Amino acid sequence: GEKLAAATNLILHRTGQKEIQEGITVIVKGEGVWVYDQDGTQYLDMDSGVTRPVHAGYGREELARAAYDQMCQLAYFTPMQFANVPAIKLSEKLAQIAPGEINNFTFECDGSEAVETAMKLARHYHYYRGDKARFKIISRRGAYHGVNGIGIRALGTVMPMRQMMEPLTPGSVFIESPYCYRCPCNLKYPECEIACARDLSRIIEFEGPEYISVFIGEPIQQGFGAFKPPKEYWQIIREICDKYGILLIMDEVICGFGRTGKMFATEHFNIQPDLITMAKGITSGYVPLGAVGCTGKVLEPIDIFNHLHTYGNHPVPCAVGLENIDIIIREKLVENSAEMGKYFLEALKPLEQHPSVGEVRGTGLWLAVDFTMDKKTRAPYPVANLLNMVARAKQKGAIIKMMGMALEFAPPLIIKKEEIDLAVKVIEQCITEEEK
Ligand code: PMP
Repeated sequence: GEKLAAATNLILHRTGQKEIQEGITVIVKGEGVWVYDQDGTQYLDMDSGVTRPVHAGYGREELARAAYDQMCQLAYFTPMQFANVPAIKLSEKLAQIAPGEINNFTFECDGSEAVETAMKLARHYHYYRGDKARFKIISRRGAYHGVNGIGIRALGTVMPMRQMMEPLTPGSVFIESPYCYRCPCNLKYPECEIACARDLSRIIEFEGPEYISVFIGEPIQQGFGAFKPPKEYWQIIREICDKYGILLIMDEVICGFGRTGKMFATEHFNIQPDLITMAKGITSGYVPLGAVGCTGKVLEPIDIFNHLHTYGNHPVPCAVGLENIDIIIREKLVENSAEMGKYFLEALKPLEQHPSVGEVRGTGLWLAVDFTMDKKTRAPYPVANLLNMVARAKQKGAIIKMMGMALEFAPPLIIKKEEIDLAVKVIEQCITEEEK
C-alpha cells in the first residue's frame, strides 16, 4: 500500500532530482564494463558505477568467493585488542605498493571514514608532540572529501551540500585549486610560477601556523573535472607544509589503485605524503572498505590511537581487498589504465574542434571534456546542457557523468579499445546534438 510506495522515497532522492523526474532506472546486473537494467537494456559503464570504483569490472567471481570464504572462516571479530589475518595481510600488501614510506594502515568502512580517521590521526600526532592547538584544516576550492563531519569541513565545492551544512566547524580554511583551464588567479602556466600553490604560505601566516593540523587534497582533483596540476604543484605544497610542521594528506579515494595509470596518483608528482586515504578501487566497489596509511614519522609519537569502531579492520572487506589488488597486479590493470587512457585521450582530442568544447584532458582512465560558451573567454557552460548530454548518452546506452563544467569518464580498468571507440562515438553524437 502507501507505506510500501513510500519506502523507496529516500532511495529515489539519493539518485538525484533529474532521474526522479524521468523515472528511475533500476540496475540489476553487471558483467565486465556493462550493466543491465530491469528491462534488460544494457549500458556501457563509463563511470565505473557512480564515482568510479569498479576497477576490476563487474561479475568477478574471485571477489565474491573471497568474501564467501572469509565469511565462512571468520565473519567478524572485534578490532579491540584483537587482530585478524586479512587485515594484517592487506596492510602488508599495501605497504608494498603505497608511495614511499607509507607503511602503516588501518581500515574503515568507506572513503568518508578514511578521511575522518586520517584527520584524527593527524590530531593525535600533534597532540602527543605537545602541539595541542593545531586544529585547523586547509583544503581547496572544488575539493570533495566525503559526507561526514570533517570531510564536510574540507568540502570546497559550491554544491548546496556544503552551504546546507554551514556553519562549518571553526578552522575550515580554503585555498584556490590548480584549475589551469580557468585559472582562479587569472594567470597562465608556467609564467604563473604556480601562484595557487605558493599562496599557501600567505594563508598559513594569516591563520597562524601553530593552529594548523593538516593540508588535504586529491592529487588529481575531481571538482572541475579530472584536473591534474602542473608537476611542480605538489612539490611546492610539500615544501610549505614541511616548513610549518603541517601534515600532508593525499586523498587517493578516487585516484588510487590504477585509476590514473599509476598505482597511486601521488606517484605522478614524486612527493612523500604523511598520510594517504583510500577507498573505492581498493575492493573494486564489491564491498565497502576505506583505508588510511601513514608514515612511521606520523605513528611514532602516538601512544594510543583513540579510535574504536565496530567495523574497523573488518576481515571480510579486507579479504576482498586482498584478492582485488592481486587481480589488479596479475592482470596488469594499472598498465592497461595508462595504455587505454592514452588511446581514449587521443580519440577524444579531436572533439576540441567543436565550438562548445574548451579542453579535452585526462590521466590514465580518468578523462574529461570541459565545455565553454566562448572558447576565447572560456565563459561558463550551463549545467542544464551538461545534464542534457548525460541524459542523451544514457538513451544511447552509455553512462557518463558531469562534474564542474565538464563531462567525465572513468570506466572500469579492464576496458578495451572497441568499448572506448563505442563511447567516443556516443560522446561525439551527444555534443553534436547539443550544439544544434
Ligand atoms: N574523498 C574523495 C576524494 C572522494 O572522491 C570521495 C567520494 N567520492 C570520498 C572521499 C568519500 O568516499 P565515500 O563516498 O566512499 O565515503
